[in-house]
Amino acid sequence: AVTLVWFRDDLRVSDNPALAAAAESGDDVVACYVLDEDTEGIRPLGGASRWWLHHSLAALTASLAELGVPLVLRRGPAGEVLPRLVDECSARAVVWNRRYGLVERTTDATLKAAFADDGLEVTSFQANLMFEPWEVTSGSGEAYKVFTPFWRACLSFRPPRRPLSAPDRLHGPAPASDDLGAWGLLPTSPDWAEGLRRTWTPGEAGAHARLDDFLDGAASGYKDNRDRPGVQGTSMLSPHLRFGEISPFEVWHAAQDHQDSSTAEDIRVFGSELGWREFSWQLLYFNPELATVNYRPEFNAFAWESSTRSELEAWQRGRTGYPLVDAGMRQMWEIGWMHNRVRMATASFLIKNLLIDWRVGEKWFWDCLVDADAASNAASWQWVAGSGADASPYFRIFNPVLQSRKFDPEGRYLVRFVPELADADNIHEPWKGTAPGYPDPVVDLKESRQRALSAYKALSEG
Ligand code: FAD
Repeated sequence: AVTLVWFRDDLRVSDNPALAAAAESGDDVVACYVLDEDTEGIRPLGGASRWWLHHSLAALTASLAELGVPLVLRRGPAGEVLPRLVDECSARAVVWNRRYGLVERTTDATLKAAFADDGLEVTSFQANLMFEPWEVTSGSGEAYKVFTPFWRACLSFRPPRRPLSAPDRLHGPAPASDDLGAWGLLPTSPDWAEGLRRTWTPGEAGAHARLDDFLDGAASGYKDNRDRPGVQGTSMLSPHLRFGEISPFEVWHAAQDHQDSSTAEDIRVFGSELGWREFSWQLLYFNPELATVNYRPEFNAFAWESSTRSELEAWQRGRTGYPLVDAGMRQMWEIGWMHNRVRMATASFLIKNLLIDWRVGEKWFWDCLVDADAASNAASWQWVAGSGADASPYFRIFNPVLQSRKFDPEGRYLVRFVPELADADNIHEPWKGTAPGYPDPVVDLKESRQRALSAYKALSEG
């Protein structure tokens, strides 16, 4: 008998409940991944995520081979591809770990019903969120609107379970598989992935190495250093969590087990950042259109500027003339990741100083980030825009000059990603001195801030 394990956003062998169940069944195991860009409504991965996926699948293939089974790669709409594979290997049972986007859930529910009709045993597991979005809801049974009460309720609901270990040994047949290289997930001409290769090791081993480095290093002092982009102050686990190369349960418990009296506060804050991930997914679960529809409908009437092509390009390329914004946008272009504080500053600049619709920025991040996450990206963009749940108030407009003075006073981060600023005599406000090769500001900060405040005020007055 065969149990089919369908891998999705859980590209790991340890703490993988679906894989563990298949191993315990004693059945032959067939492990598969389906590249689905065809199901209606599915959001295709961005360029940086495709790069990551390629390497992550290569790593998973190697770890499964070590356990004794191949990873079968197939491409097409999951609703068609999976039943075909079930037939081919005469599977008796199918297992997977849950996903939470609407299109994904609908696909899974449809498949589950069809398989059950055919007499198959189908089981889904909780693996990628510590709290299922429907478990800890507000009094009215809906998504929480505010983070703090949500997270407090989660923490008192149930302690996150201990992670499971990887199966010892698997056995099973080897159905035909696509060739990973032929999927064309990697960039060719131009090959823009040099900075990504230098920075990341996609896959489960790379994820655990990152976690260990973090716990031995930046975890101590995290609370203060997490806001300083010029130092290695955060875990950089986000792409690993996004692709499920490590589970939140693993990260949570490793951090808890590591803490001592001097780091308890750091670990508490780090834990609450994992909580923001859970919160974002609850919002997406209850608001499936979070990436395209304003959470607060009054924002549908917002007067975004329309004639800003060159300003948008300046933002995308990191040539706005504002060092922190440019450093952030270039960091993302170079390594597929941007520091959280700088994500807030760059997003605020696009939305408020350039008055460009947050969805334009959300899409750009979606394409450029290796951690592009359907929930966290959408929720964060709406948070900055003020159109989201628990949103920052509209008058909160990040001032990129004050932000870099405060969080990168020596300009270490700025110079790292904007090297032409190395010789600037005023690194935070280069237009006040000389900075050869560095662009002039695309907009005036004061004027554009005033323009944004008027636009937001007009909105609130209807
Ligand atoms: P750490 O500080 O080490 O935090 C640990 C983990 O907690 C992260 O890996 C991440 O999974 C989670 N986390 C931390 N902060 C947040 C947060 N604010 N919201 C949700 N989860 C969080 N995060 C993504 O994972 N994918 C995205 O596409 C994404 N887009 C964003 C867009 C904008 C405009 C903003 C302001 C934030 C976005 N974030 C996104 C949240 C946050 O910036 C990143 O999760 C964080 O920078 C990742 O770095 P890290 O792993 O070193 O974080």
